[in-house]
Amino acid sequence: MKERARILVVGGGYVGMYTALRLQRKLKQELKRGDVEITVVTPDPYMTYQPFLPEAAAGSISPRHVVVPLRRVLDRCRVVIGEATSIDHAKRTATVATLATEEEGTGPDQLSYDELVLAPGSVSRTLPIPGLAEFAIGFKTVEEAIG
Ligand SMILES: Cc1cc2nc3c(=O)[nH]c(=O)nc-3n(C[C@H](O)[C@H](O)[C@H](O)COP(=O)(O)OP(=O)(O)OC[C@H]3O[C@@H](n4cnc5c(N)ncnc54)[C@H](O)[C@@H]3O)c2cc1C
Repeated sequence: MKERARILVVGGGYVGMYTALRLQRKLKQELKRGDVEITVVTPDPYMTYQPFLPEAAAGSISPRHVVVPLRRVLDRCRVVIGEATSIDHAKRTATVATLATEEEGTGPDQLSYDELVLAPGSVSRTLPIPGLAEFAIGFKTVEEAIG
């Protein structure tokens, strides 16, 4: 029997969501037949469209219009809310911590994959401007933009 191909997308931001969206459209038949499965691992159940954050901060648009619910748009993918803490690409395995694994104390899950899409974004650099680290707020999430 032919094995099911497993695609793992780490990060459900701009790159991760659009990659998974395109894959689920392109692989519609394969997904239907169960020949392939797409799993997206990401800490939040929504994608934040960061270019709209200034509009949300200014009150020109509602904060809910800046986010896209992942389970609604990626309805043929499995969305796992958690964080990939390490990847062993030689073994094609990702270690994933979720709220459930933390609460149950079972240790993180191991997710096996055949193809990996690594899209965890970036960490903003704080420039060495006096007072910036102490007094400024970030501008990457809805919470920060409307806070
Ligand atoms: C205020 C603002 C305005 C912008 N305006 C523009 C613009 O006008 N035009 C433009 O082209 N670009 C703009 N950008 C940049 C654009 O938003 C980013 O380039 C884009 O979001 C990058 O996409 P990404 O998927 O790499 O990262 P992100 O969209 O940040 O997504 C990364 C995702 O990975 C998740 N993640 C992180 N670590 C892990 C982990 N260990 N396991 C699982 N998931 C993880 C994160 O929670 C997040 O959901 C703007 C950015 C900001 C902040």
